[in-house]
Amino acid sequence: MDEKTISELKKKLEKERDLLKKDLLKFADKDKRLDNDYDTRFPDLGGRSSAPDEDAEEVESYENLLAVEYALELRLKEVNEAIKRIKENNYGHCEICKKDMRLDRLKANAAATTCMICNNKNKKQKE
Ligand SMILES: [Zn+2]
Repeated sequence: MDEKTISELKKKLEKERDLLKKDLLKFADKDKRLDNDYDTRFPDLGGRSSAPDEDAEEVESYENLLAVEYALELRLKEVNEAIKRIKENNYGHCEICKKDMRLDRLKANAAATTCMICNNKNKKQKE
């Protein structure tokens, strides 16, 4: 892979990383003790907390946010690891078969860790 392509993919990853962080901060606080960890704030919809319906609503939206937080954190981790691999000149190889990944695979998902072939095999095993 040439340097220009790598730097384009790196830019794309850094942009995605910033967006993910921004999205997380909308409803979660950064955990200062842990890197890349965020804690979802418990939503306060206001009003009297003695109203049971409202409490249930708050719990439900908190649980939804936790699921979103988890997905965003996971993606952020993948993106950060991909950026790290670029910095270490270790980018673009499949984790499983160690072969170079196709560029169209990386363009579709710059944080991919496995090639399409291994990825499909993995999926089949899980099914
Ligand atoms: Zn592979």
